[in-house]
Amino acid sequence: MPDDGRTPLPGTRSHLTSPATRSTLRIQGGLLAAAREHLTSAGFTELLPPVIGPVTDPGSRGAKQVDVDFYGHRYKLMTSAILYKQASLLAFDKIFCIAPNVRLEPLETAHTDRHLAEFHQLDVEVAGAGRDEVLQLIEDLVTHMVRRTSETLPEDFAVLGRDPDAFADLLRGGFGRTTHTDAVAELQAVGHDQNPDAEIDWAGEALLSRKASRPFFVTDYPKGSRGFYDRESRTEPGVLRNFDLIAPEGYGELCSGSERTNDYADIVTRIRETGENPQKYSWYLDLVRAGVPASAGFGIGVERLTRYVAGRESAWQASAFPKLPGVVSP
Ligand code: AMP
Ligand code: MG
Repeated sequence: MPDDGRTPLPGTRSHLTSPATRSTLRIQGGLLAAAREHLTSAGFTELLPPVIGPVTDPGSRGAKQVDVDFYGHRYKLMTSAILYKQASLLAFDKIFCIAPNVRLEPLETAHTDRHLAEFHQLDVEVAGAGRDEVLQLIEDLVTHMVRRTSETLPEDFAVLGRDPDAFADLLRGGFGRTTHTDAVAELQAVGHDQNPDAEIDWAGEALLSRKASRPFFVTDYPKGSRGFYDRESRTEPGVLRNFDLIAPEGYGELCSGSERTNDYADIVTRIRETGENPQKYSWYLDLVRAGVPASAGFGIGVERLTRYVAGRESAWQASAFPKLPGVVSP
């Protein structure tokens, strides 16, 4: 338990029986049903995600991985499905899964209202797609998810006091778009000390998010700030063909994604640049060497999206059995 005595979690019984939790979880169920409807009708195949594997996504800032003893081999709980998403394109060109992730986030994130140690991503990957194609897909998908739930679950939004007008701009269509460079300049102009070589920090992201009335994309993060699988621009070395989706009203990051590199030599170099031993990734690298499709994809944080749509204060309120960093809970 974080030793600052501010553990915010209620007991399991009072959490699960509270009308606010029930409405939040019904909205979450509605969002997922709408996502399945949208993606399935667009030709996507839903796969069940792996939970353990010899290796997982190393690119989770500051979070520790959890080891599992797999018959004498050290396996990991998935921190994200990224490597398996790329591999899954060997079976189907358009896939999605709703995947559990475990990340032992630093203790100090227990009170950010946005970090859980166990959460879920709606993970999508599209063979042969470029960034613009998946940005359009996200816009259509998120708009559909929000429209469906706000149409079908008005009583739950009322229980939570969530004003349906909050989505007026979103539902009109057309998410905003800015580059990382422009976002950094905007933050520095208002006196926020944002490092231009890093992801936008949480305080900076909250600043940008509070000013927005509809979700917006931040694109082109600098190399080094993200995972080895995000493809580097061919025309602008050092710039990645990636993006985040940021919610309005201060809710912050909802989703990260990218065009992926599927070039064996490039991936090995990028892994080395992060200080890791490529040997660790041998099953993945063997697949890549034999050929995996070029692709683009993304992962939407399910509890984060639910928090925003339901207008809740904290991401843990969007989980039936929340796990906060350092907090012992069921
Ligand atoms: P990342 O790979 O770190 O960009 O994570 C992908 C998405 O998962 C993010 O955009 C968030 O929506 C969500 N996410 C990441 N870390 C957490 C966390 N610790 N708790 C809840 N959601 C998270
Ligand atoms: Mg991210």
